[in-house]
Order: sequence, then C-alpha cells, then structure tokens
Amino acid sequence: MKKECQDCGADINVPDDALVGEIVTCPDCGADFEIASKAQNMVELKPAESVGEDWGQ
Ligand SMILES: [Zn+2]
Repeated sequence: MKKECQDCGADINVPDDALVGEIVTCPDCGADFEIASKAQNMVELKPAESVGEDWGQ
C-alpha cells in the first residue's frame, strides 16, 4: 500500500506484510517513518526516532 510522505508528499510504498514498528524510508527525501499502526487497508506512519543511529558526520 502507499502512504504519503509527511515531509515531501511523495508516495512511500509500505509492504503489505510490514509490521507495526518497522521503518519505511521515503524514496524521495530519505525521511524515515515508523509504522505506528496498521489495519487491513490503512497504515499510520509517524516520524521515526533516530535513537541509536548515527547522526551523520
Ligand atoms: Zn519524502
């Protein structure tokens, strides 16, 4: 299914078998979103916390 990027509005492809808590990345701007909730035909994304990841050099 597709979700709109909250940053740039591009389509983010969310796999049908994606699980809550998984991270999806916008192909356009590279923003990371976490799957906050998921039902049969809808999915909610929230900005991913970058805890534990590097913050860039
Ligand atoms: Zn984006």
